[in-house]
Amino acid sequence: MQDLINKEKAVVVFSGGQDSTTCLFWAKKRYEEVVAVSFDYGQKHKLELDCAKDICKKYGVEHHILDMGLLNQLAPNSLTRVDIDVDKEVPKDALPNTFVDGRNLLFLTFAAVFAKQRGITNVVTGVSQSDFSGYPDCRDVFVKSLNVTLNLSMDYQFVIETPLMWIDKAETWKLADDLGVLDIVKNETLTCYNGIKGNGCGECPACKLRKNGYLKYKKEFKSGE
Ligand code: ZN
Repeated sequence: MQDLINKEKAVVVFSGGQDSTTCLFWAKKRYEEVVAVSFDYGQKHKLELDCAKDICKKYGVEHHILDMGLLNQLAPNSLTRVDIDVDKEVPKDALPNTFVDGRNLLFLTFAAVFAKQRGITNVVTGVSQSDFSGYPDCRDVFVKSLNVTLNLSMDYQFVIETPLMWIDKAETWKLADDLGVLDIVKNETLTCYNGIKGNGCGECPACKLRKNGYLKYKKEFKSGE
């Protein structure tokens, strides 16, 4: 069994957004081979999946899109339902309606099942507790707990890696810069809840978070230039 384990490979949970694209290039620096896995959960903006596909094709990463339509059926949310608008502001005492119950739990679980079939132990995800917008499944305690559960469920030693866990959006831009992929992340990724690539619509919570992070990154790390 041990012989089949491949420490030179990693599976990246990949949405085509800023965070997971930064993680994809982070993994490419670390591993000989990276396999990206995206999920089709009925998101309104199929462009997100196109973006993921394009990035993988352009930078030579093997890419798989797994069907997760069940998620939309079970957990109505503003990312999949045309009749629910995305919250303009993050509510103070409730989860934003962009939160999808069970999403990271299912994505990471299926990515792990996928990884094990190939003898891969390392699974990379771009979740961050620093800028987590109140999403409970972006917290470190959740990831650590799931890691233990996955190991027990499949009798396998998964390592869930979270390079962005303790850094904010500004530092995520810095990481992209350090990896030499700032322009790729800036122009070729899609984070916007309204499905607009690059700088996005500028109005939705995801665009605001991304833009504020970029301005902070410029100010803190690039003001001398
Ligand atoms: Zn937007």
